[in-house]
Amino acid sequence: MRGEGIVNSSLDLIGNTPLVNLGKITEENNLKCTLLGKVEAFSAGGSVKDRIALRMILEAEKEGRLIRGVSTIIEPTSGNTGIGLCLAAARLGYKVIITLPEKMSLEKERMMTALGARIIRTPTDAPSESADSNIGVARRLVHEIENAVMLDQYSNINNALAHEKGTAVEIIRDIQATRGENAIADVLFAGVGTGGTITGLARGLRKHNKSQNAKNDYKDGLLVVGVDPVGSSLALPASLNRIEDGQSASYAIEGIGYDFIPAGLDRNEVDYWIKTSDDESFDCAHQLIRSEGLLIGGSAGGCLAGALKYLRTTEEGRKISQDPSKTVVLIFADSIRNYITKDWILN
Ligand code: PMP
Repeated sequence: MRGEGIVNSSLDLIGNTPLVNLGKITEENNLKCTLLGKVEAFSAGGSVKDRIALRMILEAEKEGRLIRGVSTIIEPTSGNTGIGLCLAAARLGYKVIITLPEKMSLEKERMMTALGARIIRTPTDAPSESADSNIGVARRLVHEIENAVMLDQYSNINNALAHEKGTAVEIIRDIQATRGENAIADVLFAGVGTGGTITGLARGLRKHNKSQNAKNDYKDGLLVVGVDPVGSSLALPASLNRIEDGQSASYAIEGIGYDFIPAGLDRNEVDYWIKTSDDESFDCAHQLIRSEGLLIGGSAGGCLAGALKYLRTTEEGRKISQDPSKTVVLIFADSIRNYITKDWILN
């Protein structure tokens, strides 16, 4: 691990990301609770998805589905799982083909190309279930190309497990290291794409909080809030997903939101959903960059926007926001390096 001597390879730089106190954001928004950001930009590939990429590969190797030097990994992604797969594949010896919707940034494409992958762009507006979508094209290629394997982050159990066994354990470890062994996270906010992050974290943190007999009123000691962009259909109740007058059905924010419910997203683990617009997400990303000096990406802004909206507009949120004993964790999924040429970082 970093800081504990010589690191064996880039794969050991995956995960173990810092949990950062958002002191200035807390102050600027008159919050009394503790707000902590899990800053995934510090992982080797720059996102929360590195861990699932590595775990999906290692588990597929154990099952004999992947053979180094022989197999080709094909995966549809919004880019970050792709970067994680390309990074691990470069080190472990796999060819990679990534199918990526047009809307995703050029920075992600170029990073994966630099890591040796072939990138195929697909139309952003193709429905996920259609043959033209990034998922449809990946499914076709797996049949056409010899020794090709799709690890399928949407249904692969190792997606959520990487967070239950990894990310959640790190959060608990860091909270306890600073605030004592009885300290817990009371509230979790995360943007939702495949749902692996929120599902795995909810399971891992709840198991821990339950074993600690957490002193709050939440299910197994944890309140879980999912952040879903306007235009996506993941939120419940489904009426939240209606497009109101003046709202756009498409969104620029990358990595969160879908037009289908991924098999690995367990919506029973999510207690409350908040919808966010591009504008409020990019405003909050900006606030995080300029106030906290954290070089995060757009969906991290979405996560903060969802958290602030929940803490301001709901009864439970207002209670939490004024309670100094509450610890609130936000997942900041990726890095500004994915969006360097995007105008929102300058505005
Ligand atoms: N933010 C970004 C930038 C992402 O790339 C992803 C992964 N799609 C997420 C958030 C959401 O993570 P998950 O797929 O685990 O729900």
